[in-house]
Amino acid sequence: MKKIIILFLITLSFNIHSQVELKYLGTAGWQISDDNTTILIDPYISRVKLGNGPSVNKLDKRKTVLRSDYFVSDSILIDSLIDKVDFILVHHSHFDHLSDVPYIAKKTGAKVIGTETTINILRAYGIENDQLYPVRGGEDYQFENFSVRVIPSIHSALNDKHYLDSREYTKPPTAPLRVSEFIEGGSLIFLARFKDKDILTMGSMNFVERELEGITSDILLAGVNQSQLGLYNYNERLLKVTGYPKTIIPTHWDNFRLPYSFSQEASIELKLIPFKRDVEKISPESDVIIVRHLEEITIESN
Ligand SMILES: [Zn+2]
Repeated sequence: MKKIIILFLITLSFNIHSQVELKYLGTAGWQISDDNTTILIDPYISRVKLGNGPSVNKLDKRKTVLRSDYFVSDSILIDSLIDKVDFILVHHSHFDHLSDVPYIAKKTGAKVIGTETTINILRAYGIENDQLYPVRGGEDYQFENFSVRVIPSIHSALNDKHYLDSREYTKPPTAPLRVSEFIEGGSLIFLARFKDKDILTMGSMNFVERELEGITSDILLAGVNQSQLGLYNYNERLLKVTGYPKTIIPTHWDNFRLPYSFSQEASIELKLIPFKRDVEKISPESDVIIVRHLEEITIESN
């Protein structure tokens, strides 16, 4: 009996130390944890019904939100999903990445890492400076049981490649912000290092090749959406420069104007199935894992 218990404990401790769990929050949002640390990436949970465009589903009976409206977080939904958080990493400051972070940072006391614009928006909402880590890319910060390398990046080539927004907040704007006041403020990629797994996280369908050279990871959260299609050999260049990661998980592919209860199978069919087929050709050793809303997956150590 004693032997069995000891064996069980050894197995248990081995398992605890050899895996990370990822939960997809939709858009570019993830909760990632090991037994020591829980981080959120671009947690956008409110998923407001933005505008009246073709992406809005007629069956969505919620109130329409315009870009000129003040943004209001769905605190009840956030409370039902988010509990303890150590760090929040924010790729850029658009509303579909940052707008729920003020509420979550206040609620959990999590430390937030993001651009000067991201940090100034959080200051505007009254988040304390000792929770805030402004970065520009190039930093490599060690925390207890977790480290993060910040990599300079660029935003998706929106508006059929006509997009460029250089605005930044160099001091806190006035809160609350309207949807349109969540400006990009520069874009980042993160290498999040857990005890047993390194995860390279994207929040856009774009990257600066030279900034990623030599950076490898176990898991790549790869930006996959229509805006990647206008870029030169996006999939090939991304997989090559990141060293053909073993596990590739698409991110930012869904229609984020719809609540979690709506099907995203059309986006999966349109964007993820072609991506998966392409990766099979470019990097046959890689596994592409499609994770649906609020689904939780465990990646074991080899
Ligand atoms: Zn954006």
